[in-house]
Amino acid sequence: MKSPAKDQPAINGGTPAKTIPYTKQPKFGPEELAQVQEALDQGTLFYFFGKKVTALETAFAEKHWAKHAIATSSGTASIHAALIAAGISPGDEVIVSPITDMGSIGPILWQGAVPVFADVHPTRHTTTVETVQAAITPRTRAIIAVHLWGNPADPEQLRALADERNITLIEDCAQAYGCRQNGRWAGTIGHMGAFSLNDFKHISAGDGGMVITDDDDLAVRLRLATDKGYSRAKDAAERNPVFLCNNYRMTELQGAVGLAQLEKMDSIIARRQRWCDELSRRIAGLPGLILPEPAPGAEVSWWFYMFRIDPEVSQVDADQFAAALQAEQVPVAAHYIGRCVYEYPIFLNHSAFARGSHPYEAAQYGKGLCPAAEDLLQHCLILPINEGYTQQDLEETVKAFERVSAWACQKSPQA
Ligand SMILES: *Cc1c(COP(=O)(O)O)cnc(C)c1O
Repeated sequence: MKSPAKDQPAINGGTPAKTIPYTKQPKFGPEELAQVQEALDQGTLFYFFGKKVTALETAFAEKHWAKHAIATSSGTASIHAALIAAGISPGDEVIVSPITDMGSIGPILWQGAVPVFADVHPTRHTTTVETVQAAITPRTRAIIAVHLWGNPADPEQLRALADERNITLIEDCAQAYGCRQNGRWAGTIGHMGAFSLNDFKHISAGDGGMVITDDDDLAVRLRLATDKGYSRAKDAAERNPVFLCNNYRMTELQGAVGLAQLEKMDSIIARRQRWCDELSRRIAGLPGLILPEPAPGAEVSWWFYMFRIDPEVSQVDADQFAAALQAEQVPVAAHYIGRCVYEYPIFLNHSAFARGSHPYEAAQYGKGLCPAAEDLLQHCLILPINEGYTQQDLEETVKAFERVSAWACQKSPQA
């Protein structure tokens, strides 16, 4: 029987499966406005004189059952402050994922240290304890575990490995608010957990960040690292800088917005989890697709929904698969960051600085370093997720996936 035109994939002229745009939750509302008004009424926007940043730090630490939280100006600043606090120095090696934001990477280079890339798990999309272990050398001083899309990158096993070898474990939680492994919050399992409050993360202060730790000494160093090395502590023996730090301070405006956003975090995470878990259930087993795999014991926080096509089964590549889903009005993008971080010009050409030498120049970077990561980027697609997505959004998304999967896996999909 000939199928009617409406059941044709949209890329072949059918009616798109998605009939209305996805529902998105407004990010900011009266709660943020009230907080910002209070911040302005203080007559100062400086964290040390005002109350909002301190209140956010306290609430953030409590929320994560962490002893300390230190506010920063960005996720990149959080990673950098953590590396400074850990004492990372020129020539040290820091292990990191090749699939991440430059904010995980630049700070390593700023410390004069050498990024060493560990490969990723093909379906979990993060580094694992095995791939990190394979990248350890006697010069390894830190590991940055990137919990991509809110999927924990083996933090528990890595902490054991790190403690054994006297290595600092920093969890990059920029995409992992509300992520847990075996009930423990991501960010509290390593020595430090680094968060971002940029405009695109689960919660936002426009820009901003946070570092959490249970270690009192690291907390003191983190505070110095974000405040130019000046100590404002009452009992400080030395008020002037002892080691190199930066100005990564959060303003009271960001603290105010962050306080209102933190209140919304649980509901944001829960709604994303419900939607994405159901999506995974409903599209499981569709031919040509390989779904994202939560790590063992993980509660994933779904910053985005990353999946891959199976080139053994799909007759089309990731770009064509993306075009077909886009025709259904499902706004996926192929290849995520496009290529591994170590394939960026800054690594291929060792062009971090205009002149002089940097220890990373001795390292070889380029294609072939992490085959699983390169394969993943070639075949992956990203579906953006918003906590406002509805049941109708889900039903229509599932329908689009069903159609495009069938289209992609027939003998000659273009026919
Ligand atoms: C967003 C992000 C960062 C950087 O955060 P900024 O606030 O943009 O500096 C670092 N790591 C990861 C994994 C991120 O997604």
